[in-house]
Amino acid sequence: MTSSAPAAEPRPAVRTEREGAVAVILIDNPPVNAGSLAVREGLLAALTAAASDPSVAAVVIMGDGRSFISGSDLKEFDLPLAEPQLPAVIRAVEDCPKTVVAALHGAALGGGFELALGCDARIATAATVVALPEATLGIIPGAGGTQRLPRMVGTTLAIDLVCSGRRVEAEEALRYGIIDQVAKGNLRAAATALALTLTGRKSLVIERAVPDDGADEEVAAATALKAGRNRPHIAAAIRHVRAARSVPAARALADERADFQRLRVSPEAKAIRHLFFAEREAARGGGLNKVPPRPLARFGVVGAGTMGAGIALAALQTDLSVVLVERDPAALQRGLTTIKAQIARRVETGRLTEADVNAMSARLTAGLDLGTLADCDLIAEAVVEDLAVKTAVFRTLDGLAKPGAVLASNTSYLNLDAIAAATGRPQDVIGLHFFSPAHVMRLLEVVRGKDSAEDALATGLALANRLGKQPVVAGNRFGFIGNRLYAAYRRHCEFMLEEGALPQDVDKALEAFGFAMGPFAVADLSGLDIAWRMRLQQASTRDPAARYVTIPDRLCEMGRLGRKTGAGYYRYKDGPARGAPDPEVEAIILAASADAGRTRHSFTAEEIVRRALLALANEAAVALADGAAMNADDIDVVLVNGYGFPRWAGGPVHWARNEDPGRLISDCDSLVTLAGPGTRRGDLSLLLRPPSARGPVRARG
Ligand code: NAD
Repeated sequence: MTSSAPAAEPRPAVRTEREGAVAVILIDNPPVNAGSLAVREGLLAALTAAASDPSVAAVVIMGDGRSFISGSDLKEFDLPLAEPQLPAVIRAVEDCPKTVVAALHGAALGGGFELALGCDARIATAATVVALPEATLGIIPGAGGTQRLPRMVGTTLAIDLVCSGRRVEAEEALRYGIIDQVAKGNLRAAATALALTLTGRKSLVIERAVPDDGADEEVAAATALKAGRNRPHIAAAIRHVRAARSVPAARALADERADFQRLRVSPEAKAIRHLFFAEREAARGGGLNKVPPRPLARFGVVGAGTMGAGIALAALQTDLSVVLVERDPAALQRGLTTIKAQIARRVETGRLTEADVNAMSARLTAGLDLGTLADCDLIAEAVVEDLAVKTAVFRTLDGLAKPGAVLASNTSYLNLDAIAAATGRPQDVIGLHFFSPAHVMRLLEVVRGKDSAEDALATGLALANRLGKQPVVAGNRFGFIGNRLYAAYRRHCEFMLEEGALPQDVDKALEAFGFAMGPFAVADLSGLDIAWRMRLQQASTRDPAARYVTIPDRLCEMGRLGRKTGAGYYRYKDGPARGAPDPEVEAIILAASADAGRTRHSFTAEEIVRRALLALANEAAVALADGAAMNADDIDVVLVNGYGFPRWAGGPVHWARNEDPGRLISDCDSLVTLAGPGTRRGDLSLLLRPPSARGPVRARG
């Protein structure tokens, strides 16, 4: 016998309450009040009811819970949008004969902000942020954002806000006239009072004329296009904002909507949405985010070199206390000078106040005594990449760190388990692989050693969150996720040099694809000697049958270590800032091809890009099989956030999923054949499985 309790009535997404003559329409769509079909239907019904109810003098629309409306449900974006769509709801606000006030708290983003722009007035709590973040998702606002905003603030500021997607806090929004009042005290009461004051008034923003900002508008458009890397949706956003000056509103709104509908299903928008979900999933660390992290208030850093100084600076910008310890007094001074210079720059640009600087100085302790790290909750080691030095540091830390402190290494390639074995508490040891410059780069690989405790890893995730970084949990495999994939990418680019391409051909093709810099320009910037030193160390263990390109070794032997020596793959002295092609390098490459017995042939830009992407996809599959990555999507998150892979292309896994599988697999076979011995063939089916079939796999320690 079965018994079933009566199903609970689902809570309506929108409900109306009364404050005397004011109808308060409440949006209630937990957890973040995203705009959804149910919200749109509910709003339309509530507005229609209020419009025809003679006892309603005015209307307030507000959010129940944490926010007004914090954007749209992105999952709806891949499907045809169900009716009613948002423009119809906003039209109902404008057509409503009663005054409609938007009462904002939390976040009013995207469609939520567009709804507010259609209201007759906006009141917000001091902590509210408003923004049109559509451009960061590869689309444009589609419910009048590009039309109502310029009518309110002019085209110059509207171009900036629409193209950057920047969040604007209430005080700033008040200055711009985007909101009319910052509520003191209770928002609902203040909004009701405002609605009663304005009763009978409609302030149709959409009917306002837009002044000509002249040269300022030109500058804003050029700046936004450059910052937006000339992407089509940025150009479209600018075009629509500018149209607000001359095109009749009804037509401009229809044009905007048509472009929004076109862009939301574009490959670029789909790629960016893929990353949005992949990043959110990566931050959950396969469920580690549910594990309570250890307390973290005092943060130690060992080594004040390039990475240590950057990590300390990143931590200082939160509320963490920072203890920075060096071995070499001169290096400590250099590290502190770097930190101070970066802070001074932030003061100059208005991002920090003198009070912030004083607070940061008070939270920083720097010195030469590792003993001062004794009361730190987490200690991040960033000393030289040498196993003997690192194990010695960890042995010392083991002797002095308080029980339960997390001990983290920033190693790029060393075996985390070997480092952990130097301590009597390997469960407390994790990898925290920051990227350079550490105070700027968003990516943080959180490396799981074989003994790393879940709550130590969870503390790494929590730290990433506090630092505003994107964490990805990686297995303890050589090069973790990012450096391993990048090494494969660079190796295949070197193969192309030996087969017939020149550095400038490869860099130009990959930069046109969207990488910020090509691999050889990157090598020159970071210095060729780091990889050279590693190749020398590994020389005795290298498979003699593996294909090995000698070009970078030749360059290093000639003292061409990159920008710092004025020459690498390019020549920098007397040349343009980005380096000039050098006949000497071409001669080295031609000689290397001859030595390897290769007949050189030319490459088209398309062939170069495809080869590089195939190399990444193949290595992604190998990294997954080896347990370096927990799931395929994490690999895209790493490449985009740490290695300049263009966000709008989604990452190598997303790319592979959108290729014809048959062609992809046969091209990958050719890639591996061309690469010869030493290149493993990845099982691409690991990447191609649909997301539903890809359960989270634990990264192996
Ligand atoms: P660096 O040479 O600039 O700095 C290392 C610092 O550690 C030096 O100032 C040195 O004096 C100090 N040091 C050495 N032994 C010490 C000890 N026993 N106690 C205290 N300080 C000590 O090196 P870096 O580029 O900052 O790299 C540090 C680590 O970060 C390495 O493991 C490296 O692989 C990793 N890493 C570097 C980058 C990068 O781009 N530079 C990126 C990611 C990870």
